[in-house]
Amino acid sequence: MTQPPPEPGAPVPDGSPPGAPAPGSPAYPKPPGGHSGESTSESHRVGTTFPCAACGAQVRFTPGTSELTCPYCGARQAVPVDEHVVLEEHDYVAWRESPHKPTGVVAQHVLVCARCGASVDSADLALLCPFCSAPIIAEIDPHEQVIPEGVVPFGLTKTQAVESMRTWTSSRWFAPGGLKKVSTAEKINGTYVPHWTYDADTATRYAGMRGEFYYVSESYTDAQGRQQTRMVQRTRWWPASGQVLRFFDDVLVPASTQLPSDTLQKLEPWTLQRAQPFRADYLSGFQALRYNVQPENGLTIAQGRMRPIIEGDCRADIGGDVQQLTSVSTSYADITFKLMLLPLWVASYLYAGKPYTVYVNAFDGHVVGERPYSIPKIVAAVIATVVLLAAVAFGYQYLDRPSSPTSPSPQVTRATPALPTSARPLTPSSVPSANPPLDPSGSLPPTWVR
Ligand SMILES: [Zn+2]
Ligand SMILES: [Zn+2]
Repeated sequence: MTQPPPEPGAPVPDGSPPGAPAPGSPAYPKPPGGHSGESTSESHRVGTTFPCAACGAQVRFTPGTSELTCPYCGARQAVPVDEHVVLEEHDYVAWRESPHKPTGVVAQHVLVCARCGASVDSADLALLCPFCSAPIIAEIDPHEQVIPEGVVPFGLTKTQAVESMRTWTSSRWFAPGGLKKVSTAEKINGTYVPHWTYDADTATRYAGMRGEFYYVSESYTDAQGRQQTRMVQRTRWWPASGQVLRFFDDVLVPASTQLPSDTLQKLEPWTLQRAQPFRADYLSGFQALRYNVQPENGLTIAQGRMRPIIEGDCRADIGGDVQQLTSVSTSYADITFKLMLLPLWVASYLYAGKPYTVYVNAFDGHVVGERPYSIPKIVAAVIATVVLLAAVAFGYQYLDRPSSPTSPSPQVTRATPALPTSARPLTPSSVPSANPPLDPSGSLPPTWVR
């Protein structure tokens, strides 16, 4: 159960530390437990805190830097950075057989805000206090969850993420004009999303068929009743079998089902080479999700991502012009995995009363999201296309029979109006009427003359 801070004055707005210490005064209430976390009881935990050396407030990781910054006094603390990172990986088989592996449970924990003292019930690894917005970072119990091996730190600030989102919304095809004015996200959260990466050495035995094209000449009767010959492609099939080998490195699988996995996959690629060994410092000021996809299930998903690549190898090995695969059997050796936290800005905005969510890869600014479509713009474009195709079709018809007096009926001599501009919504009554009518049969009226 989430409980507000015990002291009067809660909630404290995020702007100044509670108690507003005089400059230089160390009067800011020190969190119990100090820098490294400490349990006040079995279930009430303060977690990991990062107090500012100057004023005691919680410092936060600053995107794009390797520093923690105090939001109140501006004091900065460096986060140690490894230049040549080699992240540890778990041996999958040893891990699976181990009696001591984490349960993987995603439990609610009661976390105590070091700033205002509120008790917050949360399953997240890190969050902002709902009462005072101070960072709260849970300590990871290694009996419950795998401790992340690596983290890709936030590279984009919130301002840069909003800018990426604005560029994205203003460049959408068929977006309502008003969307460009949605300049500010209603809500934008910085979230670390857990992902598993898998390495594996694969050996695949396959059987199938190799198809080679050849051509035969065939005779046929053309539209004018004349005998013609033409070359026709045929395929000759040969049985094929063999073995292909491939090593996979860092096949990425979303480890949380809280965000849609197809959206997360569209946010790839991630520059995992820029990852740092996990440190709680990077989480300060952000939300971080716990994984709820277990390593065994993640491996199944990873193998699903390896399969089309392996099948491509088999087809390349078979060669020829076309291939069929009748059996593919892969063995996986030396499987290793690790847990990575990847940074995402998740923004939501309202358009015409409907909420939309946009995801920004907080490392490179790549945007994936939901957006509204302008029905009038799409209708206008479809009509413009139909009109254009009809005009082209008419042109061909006209050129085919330039002198044929097939249409002795009265001539229509109205000028062809300009094509509708895509910005102008078209109502049915404003559809240009002198263009060929949109006859459901699709044929042009023979009486229509330019
Ligand atoms: Zn400070
Ligand atoms: Zn708080």
